[in-house]
Amino acid sequence: MKRNLLLTPGPTQVPPQLCEVLGRPIIHHRTPQFQNFLKEAFDGLKYVLQTQHDVYLLAASGTGAMEASVCSFLSPGDKAITVEGGKFGERWTELCRAYQVEPKVVEVPWGRAVSPKVIEKMLSEDKDIKAVYVTHCETSTGVTTDLKALGEVVKKTNAILVVDSVSALGVIELKMDDWNVDVVASASHKGFMLPPGVAIVAASPKAQALMAQSKCPKYYFDLRKYKKVVEKTDTPFTPAIGIVIALTESLRLVKETGLDNLFKHYERLAKATREAAKALGLSLLAEESCISNVLTAINLPEGMDGGKVVKRMRDTYGISVAGGQGDLKGKIIRIAHMGCLDEYDMLTGISCLEKVLKELGYKFKLGAGVAAAQTYFNENQ
Ligand code: PMP
Repeated sequence: MKRNLLLTPGPTQVPPQLCEVLGRPIIHHRTPQFQNFLKEAFDGLKYVLQTQHDVYLLAASGTGAMEASVCSFLSPGDKAITVEGGKFGERWTELCRAYQVEPKVVEVPWGRAVSPKVIEKMLSEDKDIKAVYVTHCETSTGVTTDLKALGEVVKKTNAILVVDSVSALGVIELKMDDWNVDVVASASHKGFMLPPGVAIVAASPKAQALMAQSKCPKYYFDLRKYKKVVEKTDTPFTPAIGIVIALTESLRLVKETGLDNLFKHYERLAKATREAAKALGLSLLAEESCISNVLTAINLPEGMDGGKVVKRMRDTYGISVAGGQGDLKGKIIRIAHMGCLDEYDMLTGISCLEKVLKELGYKFKLGAGVAAAQTYFNENQ
């Protein structure tokens, strides 16, 4: 049987400890037993989010958390800034339009991050803007947004700062309270190393005040329903029981490691991968100043069909990486550093990439990428 190594930015590898928990028989959710798990999940998520605010759990993928973060806080006719620096930023705009919220779109070249000054100017020129929607790690480009700087800007206004941290939560730092982030949307199948099925939304008191006034039509994604029962450690609808239980185990693993150690671990994997790409003569898509440790987007050699690289790595060698999206389709590959991965997983991925690049005719010294990554790992234990 072929290996199945996921170096994709979600879903990520599920470690054996979590597979074991996911395989257990289901229990009923309206029981003290499940309530204990739910409490542990809420507490653990607050630890990762570094927040004291409410956390709500929905049975959905990451986009469900994003949808709830639009329709639960805003009303038709409201204005909101959306930052588009990639595929997932565009999703904020599309969601706003779906709910008749007027998006004020900030277009950022793919591979770069938004400047907080741009947002500051827009907010000062239009005091009616209710929310600023950004992407923590833009998974289509491998760019990290400076949330701390944005939080400083948005906190002085009536607007809320809403962050899609679907791919970044648990992989890079997010200090929700210290950085004045009002809403975080995330999901189970990225940093938490679980199957998709649990969507996570955390909301500050400032966001909750907007929630109370929101007039967007909604039912399942009405976070007021979740807020009403969260103090009783409950969910309004049947949660993704098995994944919530496994989430408690995942959060235990995170706590055992410690957030700082975890972030350093992913940073080390990311930096070694960047060194490998450079040693292969390939450039990185993201600008150095905003490059993310969540995943690395590598520009492929001119004229090479990126779809073939991804397909051959997966179908011939059992190693999954992601291709490009939108205009970058066929031009880049994206290697993730999130979840249950270590340095030998990265070396395996890099070695496979080299093999496939060679097979497709790219000229370079075989082993150069692996050697560069090995050197980085050895010098940065
Ligand atoms: N936002 C970001 C930054 C993502 O990486 C993803 C998934 N790749 C999503 C949103 C959408 O999540 P889902 O596919 O789980 O709905």
